[in-house]
Amino acid sequence: MYVVLIGPPGSGKGTQSRRISEKYGIRHLSTGELLRQEVASGTAAGVATQNLIENGRLAPDELMIEMVSRRLEEPEYERGCLFDGFPRTIDQAEMLRELLQERGAKVAAALEFQTPMDELLRRLGSRGRKDDRPEIRRRRLDDYVRTTAPVVEYYRGQSLLHPINALGDESEVFARIESVLGAVETAEN
Ligand code: AMP
Repeated sequence: MYVVLIGPPGSGKGTQSRRISEKYGIRHLSTGELLRQEVASGTAAGVATQNLIENGRLAPDELMIEMVSRRLEEPEYERGCLFDGFPRTIDQAEMLRELLQERGAKVAAALEFQTPMDELLRRLGSRGRKDDRPEIRRRRLDDYVRTTAPVVEYYRGQSLLHPINALGDESEVFARIESVLGAVETAEN
């Protein structure tokens, strides 16, 4: 089962990813994490994108799809994958569709974590970074909404979008995810 996870910083995506990955036996693939590893090991891709990443800009689509495609060739991704932070653009979404189609697969669901803006601002604030002033936090969240909105619409257009209320404790949120993915899994088999 291939699942796309869309959620703003502070929405609890990391925690839920681990639980989803465990329960459904699918690998968690965070493109942000992959890029940070490339930067840390000083690969050509890492050197080329370090600046973009540090300034919160998107890395080039070709690089992203290349990285994802390489991972999907590995046997541990055969059962599916939980994409985290990918796709970020319509081109990436289209390329992902083609990549999966070549494998006779497709995205089964896109989960959109929904958390009210004031709650996100509060959570990011409590992370306690001194330079994380409210107006900067606000800008990061506005950027998130602006860049992911087209991807959200893309999946809505394909009837694959499932909004998840991300307010509440960890287990409560996970129960909502389970009810969506349980139905999706049944429909797939
Ligand atoms: P994240 O950990 O998902 O917030 O990603 C950290 C940074 O990596 C982002 O701010 C981008 O610079 C880059 N990045 C991660 N995923 C993508 C993607 N799918 N497309 C382009 N850039 C990405």
